[in-house]
Amino acid sequence: MTVATKPASVEEEGVERRELVVTGMTCASCVASVEDALRGVAGVRAADVNLATERARVELDPARAPDSSLVRAIERAGYGALVLSADRAERAVMEKRERAVRAAYLATLRRRLIVAAVLAVPVLLLSMADLAFSELTHADWRGYVLFLLATPVQLWSALPFYRGAISAARHGRTDMNTLIVVGTTTAYAVSVVATFFPQAFFGLGLEPHRFLYYDTSTTIVALVLVGRFLESRARARTSDEVRALAALGAKTALVRRAGGAEEEVAIERLAVGDVVIVRPGEIVATDGLLLAGSSAVDESMVTGESLPVEKAPGDEVTGGTLNRTGTFRFRVTKVGADTLLAQIVRLVEDAQGSKVRIQRLVDRIASIFVPIVFGVAFASALAWVVFGPQPSLGYALTAFVAVLIIACPCALGLATPTAIIVGTGRGASRGILIKSADALEAARAIDVVAFDKTGTLTVGRPEVVDYMNCAGIGENEVIRILASAELRSEHPLASAVVEAATARGLSPSEPTSFEGLPGQGVHATVDGHDVWVGNADLARAHGFADLGDGMLAHHQEKGRTVLVGTIDGEPGGILALADTPKAAARDAIADLRRMGLRTLLLSGDARRVAEAIAREIGIDEVRAEVRPDQKTEIIARLQAEGHRVAMVGDGVNDAPALARADLGVAIGTGTDIAIATADIVLVGGDPRGVPRALRLARRTLSTIRQNLFWAFVYNVALIPVAAGALFPFTGWLLSPMLAAAAMALSSVTVVTNSLRLRTVSLE
Ligand code: ADP
Ligand code: MG
Repeated sequence: MTVATKPASVEEEGVERRELVVTGMTCASCVASVEDALRGVAGVRAADVNLATERARVELDPARAPDSSLVRAIERAGYGALVLSADRAERAVMEKRERAVRAAYLATLRRRLIVAAVLAVPVLLLSMADLAFSELTHADWRGYVLFLLATPVQLWSALPFYRGAISAARHGRTDMNTLIVVGTTTAYAVSVVATFFPQAFFGLGLEPHRFLYYDTSTTIVALVLVGRFLESRARARTSDEVRALAALGAKTALVRRAGGAEEEVAIERLAVGDVVIVRPGEIVATDGLLLAGSSAVDESMVTGESLPVEKAPGDEVTGGTLNRTGTFRFRVTKVGADTLLAQIVRLVEDAQGSKVRIQRLVDRIASIFVPIVFGVAFASALAWVVFGPQPSLGYALTAFVAVLIIACPCALGLATPTAIIVGTGRGASRGILIKSADALEAARAIDVVAFDKTGTLTVGRPEVVDYMNCAGIGENEVIRILASAELRSEHPLASAVVEAATARGLSPSEPTSFEGLPGQGVHATVDGHDVWVGNADLARAHGFADLGDGMLAHHQEKGRTVLVGTIDGEPGGILALADTPKAAARDAIADLRRMGLRTLLLSGDARRVAEAIAREIGIDEVRAEVRPDQKTEIIARLQAEGHRVAMVGDGVNDAPALARADLGVAIGTGTDIAIATADIVLVGGDPRGVPRALRLARRTLSTIRQNLFWAFVYNVALIPVAAGALFPFTGWLLSPMLAAAAMALSSVTVVTNSLRLRTVSLE
């Protein structure tokens, strides 16, 4: 299978994609600033920035927007940037370096946090000690000691906030660093004045000892650092699943050279055509075709299916899977970025960088959030000064700092990306590839699921079980000609006919012309004969007028597909093909019905066949004998009735329906076009992946909703409380320290809530 993303914008003339690492972003408003900076570069078509992955994805015209212009634009906005190389190996090195930088960042953050936490405890105790020992209240030394303890926190531990705020200010922006810096600096500066210039307060008729806010500034710095530390650590974990996938690959492979010599070769040096030996317990180095030997291979890491798969000569093997029982040799067909594993990783990373609609809105809100918060903070401080009880300046200060601190929009920036990263990663580990965040959104609303039959609900390896010769020439010659006509078709039925011929020792010849008629059959010229193979209608239209119903009905009642061949306008032969339903198909359908969904079988096959299969699997409704364009029409009609339709299919003939449906689900063993068109790919082809994917989508979206709720509750609902709106009624005024704790808690809650998706049940 080849996984490709939807060939929409990328295929456009002259448009290329770049991926950048962006450093220094701390919240949703940073995301908006970087996006604006990138979109402002001439030649940039689209830019999407993700806070959780710290990546920017840009679509641009390389002639007008060179990479350096992107980096410059981001730097001008006050952040760091690095364009990721498209080359896999180079990129791996860059990403390794990036991880090292992140680890160093986390280590420094931890040191700053420890210092702040250790100093905050005595500051808090000493600040409150006057409640117990009233003689402390007016002791000057108390202010000096507090100053000594609080200063390292303000000047060293809080340094990253200052750096962020200064760089934002230099670019005319404000972000969460601004809020923290202004809030804590205000508290700290007022305390310093009260400590060293008490007369300033006496002059205003105030008592300076009431204005020692060192506890506020240190506790806030410590708490915000706790939040940031936990958040950075958890954020690094959200993409573990994908990183685990990417790390699956073997490091070396045992290559057998022409003379029979064996050589251990580094994975990067493997080439297409090499013959690789795999022993039990080894990881298959790359994708290939099994030449000799047989074994059971554990493909669960790629397909999510736990049972090992039996492999024999002619079967495909996949890099990254684990060989269990036997030794075999395979010929390398794909290396590096072309392998299935590399494509899966790329696909999932793509999806993780994409955004759901709601996040775009959140980003916009966040960009105007900070200035508004400053407005609210000033207004409430002013209101306190004018209308507040004594000491009104003290209340004003408390409200000002609390509003600034509570309003940090960092949780808002993490709410959706963390959920999407964990959700899609979880899907990937179960063989469910979700190509974009939009697919998740579409999946949630689905109420009808339409299935293709062959290859989707059935194994897709039909076998010829009966043959009736209707031609004047010998049976074997007819079968050979029909098989030749099918030689170039990718349809599973075609392969079955070719196999039946080879099983009889016949060798089909190359057709001189070939045309596939999706949903009907094939038309080919074989050794000068005009040959049609396909369904009964096709045969009737091309010279098989009196096709008896007896044999047709007999096989079709048993769920067997009947193919009819005509040669030069004369009856040729009739083939009955049996295909078994997938073992898990029944379960999948039963599960979907339990979820309250309507199921539908859309098949190009004869009505009797489709009905027989539907009965066996337990599917509700059948639409048979539909051509590919009719599959699309049926879906469109359902949509017009107000349904949200998912289409599950594998064939060329399913591609239009997959594109038309609200959610296209392709079977990973299917054709490339189906996979390219779909929104979700089930790698192993297990139909139970459909209910699992729908469940995962529901869970992910409800996680997003919960996250946004928590982020907004903290951010918005507590602002009025912080401003003192409840004070006149209840006497409550939010302490800035509580505000800092709430804010740290909201980020941690959001990330932890997303991480729960890693273990949520999909059954
Ligand atoms: P499904 O929807 O069940 O996957 P298709 O739409 O692919 O089925 O095909 C519908 C019918 O068209 C088949 O049952 C068969 O009769 C005929 N057909 C399609 N492709 C071929 C082919 N390559 N050779 C012969 N018959 C074909
Ligand atoms: Mg099919």
